[in-house]
Amino acid sequence: MPDSAVHIDLPDWVAAMAPEGACFPDAEARMRLAIALADANVAHGGGPFGAAVFERTSGRLVASGVNRVLADGLSIAHAEVVALSVAQQRLGSFDLSWEADRDYELVTSAEPCVQCFGALFWAGLRGLVCGAHSADAQSAGFDEGPKPADWAELLQARGIAVTTDVLREEATAVLRAYVALGGIIYNPGQHHP
Ligand SMILES: [Zn+2]
Repeated sequence: MPDSAVHIDLPDWVAAMAPEGACFPDAEARMRLAIALADANVAHGGGPFGAAVFERTSGRLVASGVNRVLADGLSIAHAEVVALSVAQQRLGSFDLSWEADRDYELVTSAEPCVQCFGALFWAGLRGLVCGAHSADAQSAGFDEGPKPADWAELLQARGIAVTTDVLREEATAVLRAYVALGGIIYNPGQHHP
């Protein structure tokens, strides 16, 4: 890889598990995929987070993401940012709101951290669907950063519908399993590769 390029690799098993164009009819089906991606990412040595971008109305899967912080050595490579980046490059627009007749939503196995919360404002999303709470991720040891308490309202004020608590228990179980396995908590200052 040239040293002027930045690279986030999506492993082959992601495409096999989440085929682009497959349809997921409702929030629970979409969340089940995000949780399955998180679970499989742990099995492959990654962090316990998964996310995917869907066309809101049809449920067509546009792009998936898993946490790639450890594998790619990038602190920004959270599942949400990976899924949004793949979706934007695949659709050929940094603004997912550019098509008047098509809305996109991000479904994520855990509520966004402060970085991903910030990224959501510029992605052109119309919806965000979350599984585990930030408190669940914090309990597992992950630093979620100084996110405002009214983060959901702030997103909604920008036209992004926010839905929380979708399959929260199942999503949190992946976080707990990661801790039980002794998974690396990659907050700054705690992990030295
Ligand atoms: Zn994040």
